Amino acid sequence: MEKNYPLYLLSTWKIGGPAETVYWPETVEDLSSVWHRAQEEGIPVRLIGKGSNVLFPDGGLPGITLVTTALRGICWGDYTVKVEAGYTLARLAQEAGERGWSGLGFARGIPGSVGGAVMMNAGAHGGEMASSILRVKTLWADGSIKQLERTDFDLGYRYCSLRGQAWILEVELKFQPGDRNQILQTMKENLSKRKANQPLQEPNAGSVFRNPPGDSAGRLIEAAGWKGKSIGGAKVSEKHANFIVNTGEAKSEDVLALIQTIISDVQDKYGITLQTEVESILTGNRGIKEDR
Ligand SMILES: Cc1cc2nc3c(=O)[nH]c(=O)nc-3n(C[C@H](O)[C@H](O)[C@H](O)COP(=O)(O)OP(=O)(O)OC[C@H]3O[C@@H](n4cnc5c(N)ncnc54)[C@H](O)[C@@H]3O)c2cc1C
Repeated sequence: MEKNYPLYLLSTWKIGGPAETVYWPETVEDLSSVWHRAQEEGIPVRLIGKGSNVLFPDGGLPGITLVTTALRGICWGDYTVKVEAGYTLARLAQEAGERGWSGLGFARGIPGSVGGAVMMNAGAHGGEMASSILRVKTLWADGSIKQLERTDFDLGYRYCSLRGQAWILEVELKFQPGDRNQILQTMKENLSKRKANQPLQEPNAGSVFRNPPGDSAGRLIEAAGWKGKSIGGAKVSEKHANFIVNTGEAKSEDVLALIQTIISDVQDKYGITLQTEVESILTGNRGIKEDR
């Protein structure tokens, strides 16, 4: 457990003030008991994974910030795997690929945790988490732990119906037999494409906006003339207009101002209201009902 821990260390954007308390539970029971104690004492609590899709506030966060990255248990089955929420998605994709198991190849370049990937229904290169999930173990606001089959909840484009309702503790995924060399080769090619098209050398949180139906957010932002433009230390990437990079000293408020300005400009120019994909964690409970 750490007190006054700098949130920027927990975010790929490298932005965020001090968190009052940060805790890395090592077991599901540990996580659940911290949740219960926080509820009893009325302390705000939120949960993140690898922080690759979040924007933390400059003023920091009160209460407890739980980080799942020490929940790394894994158990391989017969073309299935049961894995705890904090396991690195890209590592899992690589390990499955090396077994010649197909299904997660799309995820090799996505820098999140397995739990975060379910919550975001992460996807790329035509694949998404939804196709591989068999069941999930979840913690609910009333403290109950429930095993849900894939058909018990909805997943859509960067959408999971469990958001704001439950935390993902463990995930069971399925694979299909595949050609090991081909899977590894495709993952390698996808990684090269990312290196060529994404600003991976600068702190960022992936795509900031969702693609509107039938269009691409990056295309609209570039067409509106935002590529390379900055507010404070937040800059629209020269490489990919749907990425906002931290040029070194970016504040959360710079990123939010840039996001808002882009939304109004694209709205004025094209009549399309961009929606953010990135999660802005401003305060209070996130992950399990806001009002608790
Ligand atoms: C360079 C780069 C490239 C990226 N490319 C892609 C891409 O191609 N496709 C894509 O979909 N995304 C992409 N992303 C975004 C990001 O990696 C994914 O959204 C990822 O799934 C987030 O996982 P995380 O563990 O980092 O979640 P976090 O950022 O830690 O959290 C994201 C949200 O999920 C919630 N959450 C996290 N873990 C849990 C849990 N166990 N239970 C309940 N809620 C939870 C958090 O509260 C928060 O609301 C990219 C990001 C970067 C930096």
